[in-house]
Amino acid sequence: MPIHADDDSLSRLLELQLEDSEITRLEDRRASLPEAARLAEMNEQLEELGADIATATKNQDGFASDQSKAEGEMEILDQKIAKEEARMYGGGVSNPKELSALQAEIEMLKRKRGVLEDQVLEAMVHKDDYAATAERLTAERDGLQTEANSLSATVNEISSDIDAELLKHRTKRSEVAATLTDELRDLYEKLREQKHGVGAAALEGGTCQGCHTQLPAREVERLKAERGLQRCDNCRRILVIV
Ligand SMILES: [Zn+2]
Repeated sequence: MPIHADDDSLSRLLELQLEDSEITRLEDRRASLPEAARLAEMNEQLEELGADIATATKNQDGFASDQSKAEGEMEILDQKIAKEEARMYGGGVSNPKELSALQAEIEMLKRKRGVLEDQVLEAMVHKDDYAATAERLTAERDGLQTEANSLSATVNEISSDIDAELLKHRTKRSEVAATLTDELRDLYEKLREQKHGVGAAALEGGTCQGCHTQLPAREVERLKAERGLQRCDNCRRILVIV
């Protein structure tokens, strides 16, 4: 059964199509905001920086603990050396063999102390390096975080603007859709689903705006004379003569 549609309902159908196209455009825009993509990138960078800072801090702590361990051992050695030196120079030991053994013992302790001292210095250098790295990365992260916060506010602002626009167009769409007959609306929805979101197109200057095909002059004449519900011969969309 052919669907009957007068000029007025067809022009409202075209209006519905405009609203639907605008809604799709806004939804696509909202889903693909370059600012949101940049923000996601930033958040990823922030996560990486956080992990790098944690690693640097862990290494810094590790070397700090190496340093204090070596310093502790040095302190014990210092006490031993002081004790042995006191024995050596205290006059209590006079046996030359014992004195030279004592001397050798003190030298051995001092060599050990030297090794520990090197370890302390080395640990300090590494500790400072990692501390500097952690500090640099933290500054970098803080800067990026500030940038991300501001970008996030921008994304929210753009998104809520789009949402407000969407609400306006969805409301308008419902109003227009409610004025159409079920059969016209159903046909339109079916076509829209099949034809990339465009179910109705205007015939402007003899060209279907759905498939951008110039229709033969005779066909245009026929469509204009017949009016009513017409379909594009080429794309089969509902053709609205404007
Ligand atoms: Zn067409």
